[in-house]
Amino acid sequence: MAYVISDECIACGACAGECPVGAITEGDGKFEINADECLDCGACASVCPVEAPKAE
Ligand code: SF4
Ligand code: SF4
Repeated sequence: MAYVISDECIACGACAGECPVGAITEGDGKFEINADECLDCGACASVCPVEAPKAE
């Protein structure tokens, strides 16, 4: 299980600072989650203004 950031992401960067394992990095026009590092904690989703991170 891992969270995945949808295309709704506006690349604000808020989630990256909240991830306890540094799994979120800036990609091409949106932020991305490294599924191998994600702990499924939901912290990114709780701070996202557009609810882009989804539990897969
Ligand atoms: Fe990081 Fe938690 Fe979001 Fe996974 S669910 S990317 S561990 S903040
Ligand atoms: Fe994208 Fe939401 Fe993360 Fe901002 S907090 S970079 S909108 S996923």
